Amino acid sequence: MTAPILLWLRQDLRLADNPALAAALASGRPIIPVFIHAPDEEGDWRPGGASLWWLNRSLHTLSADLERRGSRLILRASIRSSIHTLRTLLAETGATTVYWNRRYEPAAIERDKVIKQALRDDGLEVHSFNAALLSEPWEIRNRAGAPFQVFTPYWRHVLSSLDPPAPTPIPKRLPAVASTVLSEPIDAVLPLPRIAWYTQIAASWQPGEAGAARKLADFFDRAIGGYARQRDIPGVRGTSMLSPHLHFGEISPRQIWHAVAAHAPHGGLAPTEWRASKFLAEIGWREFAHHLLYHFPYTPLEPLRREYQGFPWAADNAAQLGAWQRGHTGIPMVDAGMRELWATGWMHNRVRMVVASFLVKNLRLPWQHGARWFWDTLVDADLANNTQGWQWSAGCGADAAPYFRVFNPVSQGRKFDPQGEYVRRWVPEIARLPDDLLHAPWEASTEQLHQAGIEIGQTYPAPIVDLKGSREAALAAFTQLRSSLA
Ligand code: FAD
Repeated sequence: MTAPILLWLRQDLRLADNPALAAALASGRPIIPVFIHAPDEEGDWRPGGASLWWLNRSLHTLSADLERRGSRLILRASIRSSIHTLRTLLAETGATTVYWNRRYEPAAIERDKVIKQALRDDGLEVHSFNAALLSEPWEIRNRAGAPFQVFTPYWRHVLSSLDPPAPTPIPKRLPAVASTVLSEPIDAVLPLPRIAWYTQIAASWQPGEAGAARKLADFFDRAIGGYARQRDIPGVRGTSMLSPHLHFGEISPRQIWHAVAAHAPHGGLAPTEWRASKFLAEIGWREFAHHLLYHFPYTPLEPLRREYQGFPWAADNAAQLGAWQRGHTGIPMVDAGMRELWATGWMHNRVRMVVASFLVKNLRLPWQHGARWFWDTLVDADLANNTQGWQWSAGCGADAAPYFRVFNPVSQGRKFDPQGEYVRRWVPEIARLPDDLLHAPWEASTEQLHQAGIEIGQTYPAPIVDLKGSREAALAAFTQLRSSLA
């Protein structure tokens, strides 16, 4: 009998457009799909609570999808290491080949390199594939041969040479896995927390490949036409909400690319002219984030622009950090965002920028504190995108917001949530204020507060920081940093 192939699944939890699976199927050999839970191998970035919830649900879905097609998911908790678990499985099954799709986080790259070499030294055949990106980060260089650090020329360059192959469909049947190959129960390896803090998160999402396909179809039906206009309005569902599905590989950027291409009105147009080119550009930002993480692997912990290392942060302030985390800052737009995050595991992009600017500029707390909190609470926590988002907000990353840009959460609220739908949803205790005061309750008169049933400091916090004074302090800190470098 032909020796089976171990298909080592990681952040590619789908059956369509899965190059490692497609190659294994093309070989005609038996396939053993394996997931190894090895959180200790993620370096400084063990999966957070929200990610673990998602992974549990996604593995259940994948397992059912495989069984419907005649196969089975073999789940193992890594006891010593993934290489040890792989070797155990190779010995148990007689497999001689291992296929996987690549990951791009620094710790995963290092681990995978070591595993690839070790298995090849054992005399095994090992192949890795690209399932997660439109282009490999090491293939993209600017004219000087260096990595890009500005998005627009990066994306123009990528688009000029991109012709992604059509995605392969979900296979109808898969080879059976021998009943002698044992799998551990998903809920034993990845137990859900006993306190069900995730109830509302669970109601908001459908992890897995079918959920991702539904989100994409729904987005095309509902919002793609208005995306360029609506994507900044947090009160409406104007974006795709595909981010956790993309992170876990339940849908691929290639599938999205082809969906967008099919939506383009005529053939022959360049992707920048397509009807949904703005949406495609956001997939481009995801590519850019992976490009940066690959070329600057120190950035999850340190600023890409090293000169920002000496930024004069305020002294650590646990009370202010806690108020920000819990959505009790007294600044409605910030509180709405942080509460949406806690309740649903997701936050609208515009509001991510507002809450991040507030933390790093108004409170002057290090961006790494914010990145950690997001890491634990986002269902789409993604090392490349999160690092880029925080460094962009702090002004210390590639193509970042200029240092002097301090988002004013009041004017951001008035501009992007003018009728207050978003703030009223997440901060109901101030919902009865009129629209013009909703984003700045402290501007209301005693009479207006009384009519709205609000007592500042009792029913809703007083602002934990003065927006104007803290903005000036942030600008002074940046000036101090710049003059110390001059
Ligand atoms: P859409 O607008 O529908 O975009 C489609 C896809 O493009 C997204 O799913 C995402 O994969 C990608 N994308 C969109 N915007 C960006 C962006 N600015 N950078 C990189 N990729 C983007 N995104 C994450 O996926 N994980 C994170 O951990 C994360 N942390 C962030 C932290 C901060 C401080 C900021 C400002 C942004 C962060 N983002 C992160 C980027 C962005 O906010 C989310 O990708 C987006 O809100 C997801 O919603 P969506 O799927 O509806 O996006």
